[in-house]
Amino acid sequence: MHISTFAHQNMTPIQALQKYFGYSEFRHEQEAIIQHVINGKDVLALMPTGGGKSLCYQLPAVLMDGLTIVISPLIALMKDQVDNLNVNGIPAAFFNSSQTVDEQGQLTQKLKNNQIKLLYLAPERLFGNESRLISFLKSLPVSLIAIDEAHCISHWGHDFRPEYLALAGLKNEFPKIPVIALTATADKLTKKDILEKLNLNDPAIFVSSFNRANITYNVIPKKNSFDQLLSFLDEHKEDSGIIYCLSRKSTEELAEDLKSNGYLAEAYHAGMEHADKSRNQEAFLRDDVKIIVATIAFGMGINKSNVRYVVHMDLPKNIEGYYQETGRAGRDGLPSDALLLYSYGDASKLQRFARIEGNEAQSAIMLKKLDDMVKYCQLQTCRRQYLMRYFDEDFPANCGSCDVCLSEYEKFDGTLIAQKALSAVARLKERFGSTYVIDLLRGSKNEKMREEHKQLKTYGIGADISKTDWHRYLHELVAQGYLLITDDAYPVLKLTTKSDAVLKGEQKIEFIATQTIHEKQPEAIPYEADLLNRLRNVRRDIAIKENVPAYIILSDATLVEMATYLPQTRDELRMISGFGDIKLARYGEEFLQTIKAYCAEWNLTSKIKHKTPKRERKAKTERSKSAPRSSDTRLESFKLYRAGKPVTEIATERGLSPNTIEGHLSYFIQTGEMDVLEIVKKEKIPAIQDAIESYGQERLAPLKEILGEDYSYGEIKAVIGWMNRMQ
Ligand code: ADP
Ligand code: ZN
Repeated sequence: MHISTFAHQNMTPIQALQKYFGYSEFRHEQEAIIQHVINGKDVLALMPTGGGKSLCYQLPAVLMDGLTIVISPLIALMKDQVDNLNVNGIPAAFFNSSQTVDEQGQLTQKLKNNQIKLLYLAPERLFGNESRLISFLKSLPVSLIAIDEAHCISHWGHDFRPEYLALAGLKNEFPKIPVIALTATADKLTKKDILEKLNLNDPAIFVSSFNRANITYNVIPKKNSFDQLLSFLDEHKEDSGIIYCLSRKSTEELAEDLKSNGYLAEAYHAGMEHADKSRNQEAFLRDDVKIIVATIAFGMGINKSNVRYVVHMDLPKNIEGYYQETGRAGRDGLPSDALLLYSYGDASKLQRFARIEGNEAQSAIMLKKLDDMVKYCQLQTCRRQYLMRYFDEDFPANCGSCDVCLSEYEKFDGTLIAQKALSAVARLKERFGSTYVIDLLRGSKNEKMREEHKQLKTYGIGADISKTDWHRYLHELVAQGYLLITDDAYPVLKLTTKSDAVLKGEQKIEFIATQTIHEKQPEAIPYEADLLNRLRNVRRDIAIKENVPAYIILSDATLVEMATYLPQTRDELRMISGFGDIKLARYGEEFLQTIKAYCAEWNLTSKIKHKTPKRERKAKTERSKSAPRSSDTRLESFKLYRAGKPVTEIATERGLSPNTIEGHLSYFIQTGEMDVLEIVKKEKIPAIQDAIESYGQERLAPLKEILGEDYSYGEIKAVIGWMNRMQ
């Protein structure tokens, strides 16, 4: 394809987005970033994995005259991107050491003829000694330089690559060319490093929210991990997923075990032969293998968009790594799962690894990071909120889609357990830490267990409870103030003034039972499952013909849209997200034929009219707690209220409690259709407002407790609605 197809078209970014990528709107800060780049400014863009970073330089590359150079750390990543661009009809290429002299010659010629829009390069090639590449590139009309995975330039990042340091020379070589640096992970230090080392010129910095709304976070106590994994996989039979293990050996064993249970699984770790690694990775990308069981060596540069789940069989070392690994799920925006199996044993094993002889400062940092990871596993509040706050992002409300938000806690009487624990601490004369106390309770045969302690009455009285659960209970007793952990180098457990009442049986203790995860609500959009399978087959055949992974042809999200809205014509197909002009021309007909045949069989017609703009559609499919019916039930209460009926009467008529009715009405206070004064007396508002401001609006019970008898739940809800409206 000749470059003139692109030149002087004077397209707007949004037109180019539709034409070349088939998307109807920008995500996150894409539009602003693209505008800056086109205006010739330097940019640093921070966006979560799957956020859509590539588009931030690919679209400008299409719109600007000349060549865009993209620096990228891995061949696999480059190949993927180049395939993707070519399938969209954008000429792109990469230099790599496996190319023959002939191939490189051809590529050089194409570059000279202006026939390439994007050229991908590894950083070491750009400044390598033997290569005269840089002077050649300087002879070309370069319009933009993009640096992908820019955090690789920083020692502080988790993925430092010395080759990246050479990029410090870029601005000297190309002083007038705008540079865009992109990364999914950059804490403050890394960010500063990127800006300094690249020597960016008055850069605009864009930070998108790192929340990955389509990922559901789950943590379960690790008990019988393989069985737990199998029951999870049972619900993901057709899906692609990544399973992370800590050791190389366990990746291989687990992959074997999965295979013998009928799953298409392969292992991946840094110790494997290069050829084996590439083969397994390639098979995964092409959906020939559904599951990769890997160490964390696997993942960077994996752009596979339809990874439906990520499982951590072992505790990750820190939140940064965990978040990046889970982020590899659901790049296509469809609902995806992250599952972590947590055990206290893993935590203490990692603690030992984290201590580095002779480097106290580094050890302290690693231990702190591990501790934050353990806290995450033990949370009884929204996990997403914790993650966002960890990354310095404000996330005020509960997410409604992590396991904590989706579960209800059951409490049970833990008095007896508490008595056992406290008496063990007492009999050990408050001189031992939690691990020893638990060993005593469980009757450990460990050689560290002193002989005299084996004679104690408490020795072995808690053998029926697992170590992990004991840690949880001790943690809970500390939190409730019945135990205390000293702040020493060797922390020990001590009793408190409250302990005595428990030991004497005067005080009852409640613990939270292990969570029960609710059934997920089904997705709101029903699609034709059989048709989806047929479309998958069409896609697979095209992918084989074109010799690229299936997701490069079309994403799963695009197939699901087709199977939902059943487009019958090219114009209708154009409305499906992911169909740009080139894909429409090349593959449109095949998909249309399949859809039309299916519709004829089942007497179905196009539903494209129901396709609302993306944003609204998302709201409908979101797994929110309010069932679709709830808006109707609210409206019904509101109508009756407007008809002049008092709340109590509406409640009787509808068989609901007055509180529920007031809750319904508070919704209309929030929308502005009702005045707060219709429900709450003016003089009562300040007290309620005060309480909400101090304690938040997530949980009503504590608010009610603070405000006392004179204030009803309905009044509190009404003021919450009113305050939300004011905001
Ligand atoms: P990142 O590099 O930030 O991890 P990618 O650039 O690979 O993410 O984009 C992730 C997915 O999102 C890709 O499949 C891409 O085509 C898609 N995408 C990017 N921008 C948009 C958009 N504006 N609308 C719809 N999909 C988009
Ligand atoms: Zn949550």
